[in-house]
Amino acid sequence: MTTSLEHTDRLAAECIAKERRYGAPNYAPLDVVIARGEGVFVWDTAGNRYLDCISAYSAVNQGHCHPRIREALIDQSSRLTLTSRAVCNDRLGTFLEQLTRYCGQEMALPMNTGVEAVETAIKLARRWGYRVKGIPTERARIIVCADNFHGRTTAVISASSEPQYRADFGPYLPGFTIVPFGDLDALRSTLDETVCAFLVEPIQGEGGVNVPPSGYLTKAYALCREHDVLFIADEIQTGFGRTGARFALDHDGIAPDVLLVGKALGGGFYPVSAALASRSLLELFGPGDHGSTFGGNPLACEVARAAIAVTVEERLAENARDRGDELLHRLRAVRDERIVDVRGKGLLIGVEFDRSARPFAEALLAHGILAKETHECVLRIAPPLVLTQEQVSRIASAFESGLVAA
Ligand SMILES: *Cc1c(COP(=O)(O)O)cnc(C)c1O
Repeated sequence: MTTSLEHTDRLAAECIAKERRYGAPNYAPLDVVIARGEGVFVWDTAGNRYLDCISAYSAVNQGHCHPRIREALIDQSSRLTLTSRAVCNDRLGTFLEQLTRYCGQEMALPMNTGVEAVETAIKLARRWGYRVKGIPTERARIIVCADNFHGRTTAVISASSEPQYRADFGPYLPGFTIVPFGDLDALRSTLDETVCAFLVEPIQGEGGVNVPPSGYLTKAYALCREHDVLFIADEIQTGFGRTGARFALDHDGIAPDVLLVGKALGGGFYPVSAALASRSLLELFGPGDHGSTFGGNPLACEVARAAIAVTVEERLAENARDRGDELLHRLRAVRDERIVDVRGKGLLIGVEFDRSARPFAEALLAHGILAKETHECVLRIAPPLVLTQEQVSRIASAFESGLVAA
């Protein structure tokens, strides 16, 4: 007779085998098969529980299967799910009102995935460059930062400095100039009459949880003002409370010209993204200039509305700030010569090792923590923002035990 444990282990092996056999190998997942999630926890097919410090790259800030967001999804899914924008729907207006209010912007253009919001911003910035700034046709440039991550489309990888994202995917889209992240002189020296925008992540998530020098973003913003350049903030990963404020730029008191949101806007249920800006900017788009079949659909609107409400009412930004301070403090107290740096803000924390972080991720798995390396040597720790104090301790202790085992 097979025990239930053997049965579920076999199930996990089957799931992994099928993924590998029928799925393109464009990811290298940890050897764990997740079957259920609730709050900060997920369970594998054998019933082992893990504290999820990946949070689907910050798409699950509100915690897995949040009941209120689930309710919104179920409710709306039995009423109306998709109309396309060929007609109006009774959910979009209220969603846009609440989203713009939360984001402190006048208007929003709803899309689905994060990279679509980035694409929207690229088109918007170029159009503004030609029609308002007066950049000569086809000459508009967007300044981006080395080690950025803005997504995976051919346009967006053209703005990447990461060889792996680009190799043999050319020809690339022209019109991007890369400057080192955190380097004001480099930014200043490239700003001229052909530059329409500076596109930046306030903290580089995928790039290794890179926090810029203090004052960098404020000065970069001032430089953009001075040179009549749009400041586009990609807060797809850092938004919705992740860094201990609504948006990471709130720490610097900056209201960007264009704000890009995604990930946690969908509450972990559904892809919802948007590019937000002033009325005068977004009115540069006319009917037919840009769009998406699924963008702004009523199901997305209701899910996102609930995701925002949970973020506000459960004070997730405040909790991320407090729990993040505690966790950063605990992790910084760990003495291990393989650790090069521990950095981050709120609950977006990176531990940099002097070697591959993968064995540490695997050791943490054995201690009931899901975490994944980014950029080889950095372990990113970004749990759902509903984390409790007791769970901070759990992560810290597991981290210490994991270090011993790795
Ligand atoms: C994840 C991410 C994106 C892309 O979002 P997708 O939904 O994967 O397209 C863009 N920018 C940043 C900063 C991200 O973290």
